[in-house]
Amino acid sequence: MLCAPILAQAPMWIGDPDTASLLEQELQAAMRATEAFGAMPVGPWSVHLHLSDDSFEKTTGAPPQRFAAWAGATLHLRPIEKLRRRDIGEILRHELVHRRLASSRLRPWEEEARCLYAEGHTQPQESWPLAPMKPIQARLDLALRRGNTASQAWAYAWLRAWIARKPLPPAPPLKSSGRENWKPDR
Ligand SMILES: [Zn+2]
Repeated sequence: MLCAPILAQAPMWIGDPDTASLLEQELQAAMRATEAFGAMPVGPWSVHLHLSDDSFEKTTGAPPQRFAAWAGATLHLRPIEKLRRRDIGEILRHELVHRRLASSRLRPWEEEARCLYAEGHTQPQESWPLAPMKPIQARLDLALRRGNTASQAWAYAWLRAWIARKPLPPAPPLKSSGRENWKPDR
């Protein structure tokens, strides 16, 4: 009976059945490790274990550097042989915090920072570092939502430095018009 709250939140597994049995414990551990970041939304959810990169990318539109992506209440994951090259627990903790913060009304950069922090911590920071100036917040949000590889790399490096209270990497130079040097993705 002690397991009831976890069982109540258990997802439906879709796709590769062998991987589902491998990942079940990893997922439960990631659920427990991220509890302090917020409650899981009520209602059914699922984990889709793709058998090919092609199917993962077609379904999610995710770029090659992404290993996991949410579409509605479904967490899509790359094939197990790809996940194994990374820390699966880290990936799951990160993605579960996205789900826990889905209705938090945080800005994209604030949510992403918490997810990155949850990769290595079971408790959020008591107080987060000072928020950056508004234009930097807007540029982080744009890069996270619609950025190219380079601008996303800057945004993630910036967020990792921010949560660690380290010197922040300078933002990429803007065009003389004040616009980004890259074209936002649709
Ligand atoms: Zn994320």
